[in-house]
Amino acid sequence: MDVIAGPGCPVCILPAAEIDEAISLALNEVTVVTFGDVIRVPGSESSLQEAKASGGDVRIVYGVGDAVRMAEKEPDKDFVFFAIGFETTAPSTAIEILNKPPQNLSFLVSHRLIPPAMELLLGVGNLHIDGFIAPGHVSTIIGMKPYEIFPNAYRMPTVIAGFEPLDVLFAISMLLQQLKDGEARLENEYKRSVTWEGNVKAQRLMEQVFSVVDGCWRGLGKLPLSALALKEEFLEYDARKKYDLQIERPRDLMPGCLCHLVMIGKIKPPECPLYMKACTPQTPKGACMVSIEGTCRIWAKHKL
Ligand code: SF4
Repeated sequence: MDVIAGPGCPVCILPAAEIDEAISLALNEVTVVTFGDVIRVPGSESSLQEAKASGGDVRIVYGVGDAVRMAEKEPDKDFVFFAIGFETTAPSTAIEILNKPPQNLSFLVSHRLIPPAMELLLGVGNLHIDGFIAPGHVSTIIGMKPYEIFPNAYRMPTVIAGFEPLDVLFAISMLLQQLKDGEARLENEYKRSVTWEGNVKAQRLMEQVFSVVDGCWRGLGKLPLSALALKEEFLEYDARKKYDLQIERPRDLMPGCLCHLVMIGKIKPPECPLYMKACTPQTPKGACMVSIEGTCRIWAKHKL
């Protein structure tokens, strides 16, 4: 039995084009505000950290509310909040937009959705998946319902799990039981947080502010209906529109980097020729080595 990480790290799946957009803003007198892990993620040629070293104003925050407060305090500056993350963080972006933030703050929206990425995995050849462990935090928001498709249409056992070691172990035993029974069911190990409907209020906030659109994932191309974009009535907050961002020929992967194969579980990090040679936690060459949730970073940390 093997337990493999999928494309569930929100930093790892950010396409280079969207990092490049944030870098171009930072280098053009716009203050870019985002989460800590994001600033080290490689874009096509550099990272936000390098843009900061070159004089760009890049600030790290714990949440979008901090960006709103900064923009209010410094009304003469232009701020952009680089809004990344899955269904877990998208509602907090939505609520700040509904609260009408100051005009000097706009949003570079890079939110992505988990179920379409799980569907992608089912179409990858030679990837023999026997069951899914679905993520607890995302499921707290979206509930169990969106995963019905996996046992019903794909006959894929699916268990929603929390993040504690015992949660994961229990989820594995639930999956094994389904395999033993020869059945595919949707089960919920994370009952203390996840319900069938999920957090309906958070879902409504997302539906009010965002449309579901096709979105690019690093090294994986465009996945149908896997991203969020601001609805027409909120375009005044859209940084792409406000600054007319155009990125030409972005490069998701540097030569030799196999992040895209790591993210879909086709290879393990040591099979990448750069792993712990050119690419280390101190010198990441690919996105999977940057975030503490990145597969390569986890392998490096635990010396697997
Ligand atoms: S070792 Fe580095 S370059 Fe290779 S897949 Fe992992 S993050 Fe990407």
